[in-house]
Amino acid sequence: MRKSIPATLIPGDGIGPEIVDAAIAVLDSLHAPFAWEIRKAGLAGLKESGDPLPAETVESIRKTGLALKGPLETPVGGGYRSINVRLREEFHLYANVRPAKTLMPGGRYENIDLVTIRENTEGLYVGFEHYIPIDGDPHAVAIGSGVNTRAGCRRIAQFAFEYAVKHGRGKVTIVHKANILKALTGLFRETANEVAKSYEGRVQSDERIVDACAMQLVLNPWQFDVIVTTNLFGDILSDEIAGLVGGLGMAPGANIGENVAIFEAVHGSAPDIAGKGTANPLALLLASAMMLSHVECHDLAAKLRQAIDITLNQDAIRTRDLGGSATTREFTTALIHRLS
Ligand code: NAD
Repeated sequence: MRKSIPATLIPGDGIGPEIVDAAIAVLDSLHAPFAWEIRKAGLAGLKESGDPLPAETVESIRKTGLALKGPLETPVGGGYRSINVRLREEFHLYANVRPAKTLMPGGRYENIDLVTIRENTEGLYVGFEHYIPIDGDPHAVAIGSGVNTRAGCRRIAQFAFEYAVKHGRGKVTIVHKANILKALTGLFRETANEVAKSYEGRVQSDERIVDACAMQLVLNPWQFDVIVTTNLFGDILSDEIAGLVGGLGMAPGANIGENVAIFEAVHGSAPDIAGKGTANPLALLLASAMMLSHVECHDLAAKLRQAIDITLNQDAIRTRDLGGSATTREFTTALIHRLS
């Protein structure tokens, strides 16, 4: 019998509750050791308590240090700030980890297996922006600044190299734009290369300029293993990389800080299909597998990944977005059948 591990569960908005239900049913059938504290956030939090990030949700995460989160709706062009960004700031979730692995053969690329590690709190996403009005045009000039710190660059680079060691990965590629943004991403390049030296003999390293990296990911993605990069480049490249393995529907992500780790599907709340029972729960299930590995339940994570593989490829049970006809519930039932 494993020791019970307290964890916060945020069902989220749109398809969130449907895919979270699926993930919980699967984790229960695995006898995963999580003791859930269910808390609201996003639109659901706003409706219930007038705050899209209620204090009791923040307190629960602070206490458990571990969360599984459904997607949260963010209003476009006004309304409340992204709760995902607020959570990253609140808990200093400096590392965003996004693995991309081919799950079904026959796509555009076979045998993709790479991981993007994105700095999650600095860079051009700090939101230091303003307009300068000229001649009655309030938006005549827009100015934005990025902030990278030596400590932040060192922390994310060390995280990436440690990740490579822990997961048996051979190479880390440092991605930057130091030819143009010489200070902002030059500092990242310089610091990451210093960190790389301390891993010589254990993990190889090389570097790419971000635009060349984007092209090479399309031409020959197999040359990459772990990619570490700054916030904006990581945001863009990790979506490109998700595209190599069939899109965001199968992309899990983890946001990791010193004391807190939050696991999620990379996709959003999909309001267009919410309540229809057709959502694909795979991304959140893969995020659940990452969460199991995070708490050292590697056997359960491996069992879950293997059952997903069999359900998709031997049983050929897939949701509509993957060309199948299964509902969320049918896919989940088939997966649980394989697990048992
Ligand atoms: P989205 O990812 O929700 O949807 C894009 C398209 O992909 C839609 O057609 C949707 O039906 C489909 N899709 C997404 N997930 C799917 C799944 N699991 N199964 C089947 N189809 C799926 O992106 P969007 O429409 O741009 O955003 C909707 C809302 O989600 C917005 O409020 C946005 O801010 C929010 N969002 C949240 C997160 C998060 O919480 N991590 C991430 C991205 C977007």
